[in-house]
This record gives sequence, C-alpha cells and structure tokens, in this order.
Amino acid sequence: MSEQSNATASRTDEFIAQADRWSAHNYHPLDVVVTRGEGCYVWDVDGNRYLDCLAAYSAVNQGHCHPRIVGALTDQAKRLTLTSRAFHNDRMGVFLEQLCNTLGYERALPMNTGAEGVETALKTARKWGYKVKGVAPDAAEIIVMDGNFHGRTTTIVSFSTDEQARDGFGPFTPGFKVVPYGDADAVRAAMTPNTVAVLVEPIQGEGGVVLPPNGFLAAVAEACRESNALFIGDEVQTGLGRTGKLLACDWEDVRPDVLILGKALGGGVYPVSAVLADSAIMDVFHPGDHGSTFGGNPLAAAVGAEALSVLIDEGLVDQARELGDWFVEQLRAIDSPHVELVRGRGLMVGVVIKESSGPARPFCKALKRCGILAKETHEQVIRFAPPLVITREILEGVLPDIAAVLRGEGVELG
Ligand SMILES: *Cc1c(COP(=O)(O)O)cnc(C)c1O
Repeated sequence: MSEQSNATASRTDEFIAQADRWSAHNYHPLDVVVTRGEGCYVWDVDGNRYLDCLAAYSAVNQGHCHPRIVGALTDQAKRLTLTSRAFHNDRMGVFLEQLCNTLGYERALPMNTGAEGVETALKTARKWGYKVKGVAPDAAEIIVMDGNFHGRTTTIVSFSTDEQARDGFGPFTPGFKVVPYGDADAVRAAMTPNTVAVLVEPIQGEGGVVLPPNGFLAAVAEACRESNALFIGDEVQTGLGRTGKLLACDWEDVRPDVLILGKALGGGVYPVSAVLADSAIMDVFHPGDHGSTFGGNPLAAAVGAEALSVLIDEGLVDQARELGDWFVEQLRAIDSPHVELVRGRGLMVGVVIKESSGPARPFCKALKRCGILAKETHEQVIRFAPPLVITREILEGVLPDIAAVLRGEGVELG
C-alpha cells in the first residue's frame, strides 16, 4: 500500500498540530492528512495510499476527482460562476430539467448544503400546510424519527434526539413530534389534523446505518396519504445510488412527496443540494419567500448535471447493488468474537461491534494502519461506504485485512 518516501520525517503531525491550533474543535478526525484522491483511493502527505471507505459520507459516490466532473467544474469556472438569482443563468434550467426528469418530479428548488435542503423541505411543508391544507396559523406539526440526523442548523437540531447535538443550542424551534424509527403505528398515532409532514431517512446513516423493518416506508407513505400530510424523504446520504437503487425509497416503491438530495449531487467537488416536488406543492413559493445567494449558481448547476450523468452513464446504481450484496455476504462470513452483526443495503454497510469489545474507533484506527479509511458512527458501528466506482477486485484485495482487524488483530481494545 505504501509509496513511503525514503527517510523524510512524517509531515502528518505538523499538519495535524496546525489544524488543532487554528481550527475550532468541532470534529475528531482520524490521524491521517489526505492530500490527493483518485477514484476510490486517497493519498496522505507522507505518500501512503488508502482505500476510502467513507466517501465523504457518500458525497463522493462518483469517486474522487472524477475527470468528467472536474472537467465540468473547470470549464464552467472559466466562463461564469455566480450570478445570484437576481439574474437568470444559462445552466440552472438545464440542470433542473435533467434532475426532475431523472427523479420524476415537476419542480426543483436548488440549494447548497444538505441542511439547507432539509430546511427548505420543512418550510415547503409548513407553507403547504397553511396555504393548501388549511392548518391554522403557527399550528403546523411535523413528525420526525428518533435517532434522526438531518444536519446542524438550529431548527434541525431542535428535533435531534442526540443530546450532544442539542446541548447548549436552545431555545429550540417548536412544532416537531418525535416517534420511534421503524414504528409505523407510532407515526399514525402521532398524526393530528395539524400534521403537515413526516420527515424520514429511508436508512439512518449517522444513526448507525439503521434499516427500518420492511414495509415501514410504504406504511408511512400510506399514513401520509390518509391524513393529507406530506412524506418528506431525506435522501441526502442514501440517494443517488448508494443503496443500490437510485433512491433508497425505491426499495419499497415509495415516491416521496418532497425529496431532499445533497452530498453526491455535487459529485464530491462542490456543495449542491435540491428539494424536488410536484407543482401542487412547490408552487406555494412565490418570489421573495425563500432563497439563497449561491443556490442554483451556474458552477453548481454544471457540476450537478455532470455528477448525475456520470452516475447513470457508468451504471453506478447497479454496481452498488451487485457489489453491496456480495460484500455484506463476505463480511457476515467473517468469524469474529467482536462483531455483533453486519447490516446494510447496497454499498451502505454497517458492522456493529459488540459493546463488550469496546467502541468501534480502535477498529477504525487499525483499519487505517492497513490502508483502509473507515469511520465509526454512533460509537459501535464501523461504516463501509466506499465510492461506487470501487470494483469487486479491489474489495477482494482488502477483505483479508478487514477480516483480520474484525478478529481483533492490531486493535487496541479498550
Ligand atoms: C449529511 C446529511 C445531511 C446534512 O447535509 P450537510 O451537507 O452536511 O448539511 C442531512 N441529512 C442527511 C440524511 C445527511 O446524511
């Protein structure tokens, strides 16, 4: 794995010390300083190569520095990057038409980050509730799931059930009801005439790669139809091929009324998010109601269009499904005293470490020493979610190392 350059001292510690000194301490990264990426690999400042099994939380589904996406970025960057929405640009409409046609919606509202997409969806649902459903002013309720992750804005952390995500950030935005994830009866029971939407991740990524029971998404969609509430699908992480279908909701033939995309929509090179819905919902917005200086900018539009095209042209959705099934099988076959279970869909896979073996982080550190970058999520879970351009040969090559680490080799158990 190593192209370690002769006798020069590691530059890793220097970069880490500098970041620690000048950056706010709101993250706890692994001790690796990445300087270059290509496909499913990244290289650190000391010349070591790693297989990227996080893919920037699925933002890099198309692989690092995909030549077509970087080409779209640089071509557009030389021509026009930002107009604001005060003027039209010649890229946004092209992109949104492609996006809507690919996903099967009538309209899209472009934003930048996933959290902004979620905020936009929540505002859409509330406005729809007041203007179309006829809910009394300021009475709208939105049902959300225990263990959710939808981003970091003040409103979004208002309904987080992760204590740390909320601690010190109140007062919070009212109007949200939390129910257990995977419990469709609880969703039904929480619905009132004031319910305007249910916000759901089809698989909880940050929650620990948690799959709801089969039929949950379809049952929630049905409950929404019966109660005239909107099903909001947050597919920021699960969308665009990650789980082996274009959308994770496709696994249950559920079409969200409001769909949120982000992460891989920017092909790993630029933040691009969007909310999609039909006009009966989206047309609640009028000029001045909502917006973003950078949302829909021509650079984002050029990148987003190419990121979508690459996903389709390279068959990455099918690739994720075929490789994912096989990979999960291989991981399950590893005989380890530390693994509680392996779960996942497509190339979104979680290996749950037994509590008695301590947290997942020492396993991630050991994987790093083998040239595999994975990150723990929710203490006990190692997430394997490599770029979808990874091949079976590459995965076969690292399976022996993964197996050794999962059996505890090189792991500093707590
Ligand atoms: C990452 C994520 C977000 C937030 O996206 P940002 O770009 O970090 O703001 C929202 N929802 C889900 C499901 C995510 O995984």
